[in-house]
Amino acid sequence: MPQQTLAIIKPDAVKKRVVGKIITRIEDEGFTIARLKLVHLSPDEAKGFYAVHKEKKFFSSLTEFMSSGPVVVMALEAEDAIRRWREVMGATDPALAAPGTLRRLYGFSIERNAVHGSDATETAEWEVGYFFKKKP
Ligand code: GDP
Repeated sequence: MPQQTLAIIKPDAVKKRVVGKIITRIEDEGFTIARLKLVHLSPDEAKGFYAVHKEKKFFSSLTEFMSSGPVVVMALEAEDAIRRWREVMGATDPALAAPGTLRRLYGFSIERNAVHGSDATETAEWEVGYFFKKKP
């Protein structure tokens, strides 16, 4: 069974007009785009999505950033999708991300790092459900 992961093209990358490049990379890497939408998160929706980080000192800055402009949200499908998408994204800090990874190519800072990806099976399920209703 292919696995699903939640991917987000963050506001910095949408503003930079690299949505097309990132989606091309997603398809070239063999992921199937199962769901896709463009949304502008409210501050509360961003806070809900990042609730696990609510004790972190960067929480308010992160949620302000994530609600600062539209994002592209996708459910990506592939064998081992969660691990593979994180590999394509690269390390959280673009300066430390491997050459050729999306964060290295398009990220600006540890916060404005172009893309999001789920980090585990349970979080992926929860994150996909946060944005997309289950198909009937
Ligand atoms: P990820 O799984 O690689 O996205 O990293 P985390 O789950 O640790 O953090 C979630 C998001 O919070 C990251 O993608 C960044 O946008 C942001 N973030 C992480 N660490 C920091 C930090 O030290 N400072 C700031 N301002 N933002 C951070």
